[in-house]
This record gives sequence, structure tokens and C-alpha cells, in this order.
Amino acid sequence: MNKVLRDTYVQVDLGAIAGNMEAIREMVGPDCAVMPVIKANAYGLGAVGVAQTLLDHGACYLAVATLTEALELREAYPEAPLFILGHTPDRFLHIVAEKKITQTLFTAAQGKLLNDIAAERGVKAKVHLKVDTGFHRLGTEDVDALYSICQQPNIEVEGIFSHLALAGEEEDAKQYRRFIAVIEALEAKGVAFRYKHLADSIAAVDYPEYRMNMVRPGALVYGLRGFHKGYIEVKQSMAFHTHLSQVRDIPKGEGVGYDFLWRAPQDTRIGTVPFGYADGYPRAMRGKGYVTIHGVKCPLIGVLCMDQCMVDLTNVPDAKEGDLAIVYGDGSNNTMSIQEASELAGSNKNEIVARLLPRPPRVYING
Ligand SMILES: *Cc1c(COP(=O)(O)O)cnc(C)c1O
Repeated sequence: MNKVLRDTYVQVDLGAIAGNMEAIREMVGPDCAVMPVIKANAYGLGAVGVAQTLLDHGACYLAVATLTEALELREAYPEAPLFILGHTPDRFLHIVAEKKITQTLFTAAQGKLLNDIAAERGVKAKVHLKVDTGFHRLGTEDVDALYSICQQPNIEVEGIFSHLALAGEEEDAKQYRRFIAVIEALEAKGVAFRYKHLADSIAAVDYPEYRMNMVRPGALVYGLRGFHKGYIEVKQSMAFHTHLSQVRDIPKGEGVGYDFLWRAPQDTRIGTVPFGYADGYPRAMRGKGYVTIHGVKCPLIGVLCMDQCMVDLTNVPDAKEGDLAIVYGDGSNNTMSIQEASELAGSNKNEIVARLLPRPPRVYING
């Protein structure tokens, strides 16, 4: 974790994440496991920094997208159960066996390869089968291919899963039925699955009937709400803070920033804040973004630079160097919520947080 040697940082409330995990566990009940998704550096919040909280609050696995993400966690947590949701190329497959990482698998060829790797090393490789029920991203509906993986002696097929397109209730129900058909075909051949899972954050809340015995919430764990039909009380765990590095008055007509794309319409007090697009703030926020100082919205002016940007302090004449400027908050007290940021930037909530770059340090607080 970075040392905080900067006035710009991502603040992560581990207490909120703990509370969200408990709320999710209560929602799904004791017979349904919770596998929080901490890919993309835990949606920008710092995977290594949040993992212990998730494990302490009932995570049965930590799910990531890639082998690299799994290895970062393996270094920090030698014993944690880790799950790779994505594909791992053949040439790296030995690493998942050696590092005891549970891998997503869907081809007979990788089943054979991973089996041989595991046999050579005298271990059993754990996998979950990925069924493509219509999302057409990853997986297969080929029962023979999936069954051949189940027959490999050095592979333990612990689970089976699929993913919903969330294209509407009817489409989702169709996908569910296709998933059940594949499960039943394999069970008819004598395969037993400890875990069956389909639901991400939205599905876990909106479709209790699709929770099966494991859910895979990502956004929800961090307090980002996307559900429609159902409801669960979760708390946003993340804020993005910076502090004013300079305050000054400029006369009417002065240009500010590259190409002087903003000019002062009157004598204006402006401030400089030390964050930019290289911290992961969308450059598309030009003309729309603001920071909140003393509870007042201060619009960004001019173009956003790589490391800094300028704000209009007209409505906070008492703002001074060092004062807190909230870039993303929870929406209260005139702060920009992640939802609002996603709308202004033409993005979605997950992208806004996941694109936060490593440069701003993550600061962990509790409560
Ligand atoms: C990212 C991901 C999730 C979590 O998605 P959220 O919408 O953040 O809950 C679940 N399952 C899979 C396969 C994923 O890739």
C-alpha cells in the first residue's frame, strides 16, 4: 500500500464494506455462500487492502478476473481461497495448480492439460465449469466437453456457473433454464456440484430465485447500488478526496488552462486541486465536473490536466490553501456521487471506480 505523501487520495471505509458483506449474507441466508468479486483492484479500492475485511465477514472465496490479480492476493494472503472468473492461457495454467487457485474451465483440452499438470505435481486442481447460457462471453453449453473435465482424475470440479445478460426478466429466465438443463444433464451422468452460481450484484438482489447456493456480488459489496426490483441497504465505502494547492484572484478576461478554453467572465477567485486524468478521473468531465469545498459545488474550469485542474471558487470566497475538496462523495452535502459521476462522464458506476489508477494512495478508515 502506498504511503500517503500526497493531498489526493482514495478513502475506503472498511467498516462500510464489513456492513455490506453482513447485509448481503443476511439477505441470502445461511445456505447460500457469498463470493465477493474483487477484480480490478477491488473496483479501484485496493484488493489487498479490502481482502481481509471480506474474509473476516464470511467471504467463501475472493474472486478476481485474471491470474495476475490472483497472484497479487496470493502474495499477501497465502491461505485465502482464490477464484479466477476469467480464462487463463495454457502456458500459465501450471501456476494456478501450484498456487492453489480455483480456475474457471470450459474446454476438454484445458481439462486434460490442467489434469496432467496437477498429476505431475501430485496435487488436485480445483475448478468451476463455466456454462454459456446466451451471454456469449465465456463458457460453453457443450455437455460432453464439460463432462470430460469432470472425468479427469486430478481435477476436482467443485462448482458450475453462468452469467446473466440482465436483458429483462424473460431473457434472464431463459438463461436460467438453459443453465439448469446443463446442470441436470451432468448430474444425470453422476456429477455432483458443491456450488452452483449465477447471480452478480443485481441478480442477487432482484432474483432471489436465481441465487442457487452461491452469489458473486461485486459492486454491492462496495456499496454501489444497481438493483431495481429488490432492495438492500448498503453503504458507499469509497470517497475521493483532494486539497486545494493554490488559491488566487484573476481579472476578467484571463484564460485558464490549455488553449485558454475557459476565460474569466468577471474578476474571479480560482483554486488549483492536485488531481487529474492520470489519477483516473475522466477527462470527459470538462465543463461538467465539480469538487465540493465547504459543502459548496465548485465547477472545474478549463481542460483537465494530467495531474491538476482548476476550479471556480466564486461561491466559497473563504476557501484557502489546504482545504478539503471532495471529488467523489456519497452524494450528501453537495458531493458528487459515483452515480452522478457516471452520468456526467457517460459511463457506469463500476467504470468510474475501477478506472481509479494506482497513483492516488488508498487510505483505509473504519467507520
Ligand atoms: C464482475 C463479475 C461479477 C460481479 O459483478 P457486479 O455487477 O459488480 O456484481 C460477477 N460475476 C462475474 C462472472 C463477473 O465477471
